[in-house]
This record gives sequence, structure tokens and C-alpha cells, in this order.
Amino acid sequence: MLDADFFRRWMTATAASVDREAERLTALDSPIGDADHGSNLQRGFTAVTAALEKETPSTPGAILILAGRQLISTVGGASGPLYGTLLRRTGKALGDAAEVDRAQLAEALRAGVDAVMTLGGAAPGDKTMIDALVPGVDALGVSFGAARDAAEQGALATTPLQARKGRASYLGERSIGHQDPGATSSALLVAGLVEAAG
Ligand code: ADP
Ligand code: MG
Ligand code: MG
Repeated sequence: MLDADFFRRWMTATAASVDREAERLTALDSPIGDADHGSNLQRGFTAVTAALEKETPSTPGAILILAGRQLISTVGGASGPLYGTLLRRTGKALGDAAEVDRAQLAEALRAGVDAVMTLGGAAPGDKTMIDALVPGVDALGVSFGAARDAAEQGALATTPLQARKGRASYLGERSIGHQDPGATSSALLVAGLVEAAG
């Protein structure tokens, strides 16, 4: 079962990998964006870990809701409200259970990803974070490792796509040939589950 400590470790592991990969995320956001994705998320996840230490929420749902709220209030840019909505909606779907299993997490994350699609209007294939999140959540029924691999593949598969949402879509065909920064960071978020599972 996945308890509050698991969710805390998930957020901490994601914050650490965002720190480690911040320069790469910003570099990916340079040719098809405004070169701030790494610094946006670094600011956001630093606030998440600080808030989790200060407020010590005690359930999986409360942890994700607090994390989502931090991302919405600290990340300037499109990705803040989108990631914030993902975590808040997922947290709400988990309710006040003290522990959940992997299938329940997968179902809650699906609700979270649906909320991101509703908010941002992106569908799979539009070259956004959705292209890593959807395959990642789909594979979560198999294992955390399968989810990580599927999300990474999804992020890599954004390279040949033309962006239809977000800043990169302004470039039209010139967005082709570059990996999407948000899909890349979403793969880090999914990979954080493997680290949390330890
Ligand atoms: P900004 O574009 O405002 O500078 P970021 O650079 O932090 O914000 O995030 C850019 C990422 O956000 C993109 O790579 C893409 O994955 C994601 N994104 C942008 N718009 C949308 C959307 N409408 N739906 C889903 N994801 C989106
Ligand atoms: Mg940007
Ligand atoms: Mg920006």
C-alpha cells in the first residue's frame, strides 16, 4: 500500500530530478518556447518541498492538494496551472484515505490527467505534457517501472510532432524536430514514482 510517506517521497524525488534536469528542461524550451521551463519547475517544486515540511499534511490526498496549490501559486507560465491541476485533481480523487494501492493511484491520476486536458484543451499528439502523462498512467496498471518507461517513450515521441497547444504551437511546422519540454518534465514526475517505491 502507498501511504503518506510514499507521496512525500514522490514529491521530494521529483523536486530532486527537476533540480538535476533544470538546465536540460530550459534548453528544450529554448528552440520551441521561451527558455524558462526548467527554472519555472525548479521554483515550483522547491516551494512544494518547503510547504510539505512546514505543513506536514498527513494523507496522500492532502499532500498532492498542497503540492498542486504550491505549483499554481509559484510557477509563472502555462505549466504551473496545468501541473497544479494535475496534482490537485489527483489528490481530490484520492479523498481522505490514509493508504491507497497502485490501481487507486492510477485511477486518481487518470482523473487528474483528464482535468489537465479539460483545462488546457490538449489531446494526445498535440506535443504537450499529455503525451507523456497518458501513456504513463495507462501503464501504471502494470507497474511503476512500466509507467516510467512508457512516459519516457511518450516524451521522446513528441520530437517529430507539430505542436498544437501552448507557446510552441505559434511556430507551426518549425516546432517539428524538437522534444517537448513539458512532456520531458512529466516523464520525470512519473519516474519519481519508481524512486518513491524504492
Ligand atoms: P510557458 O510556455 O508559459 O513558458 P513552461 O515553459 O513552463 O510555460 O511550460 C511549457 C510546457 O507546457 C510545454 O512544453 C507543454 O508541454 C506544456 N503546455 C503548454 N500548453 C499546454 C496545454 N494547453 N495543455 C497541456 N500542456 C501544455
Ligand atoms: Mg516556457
Ligand atoms: Mg514562460
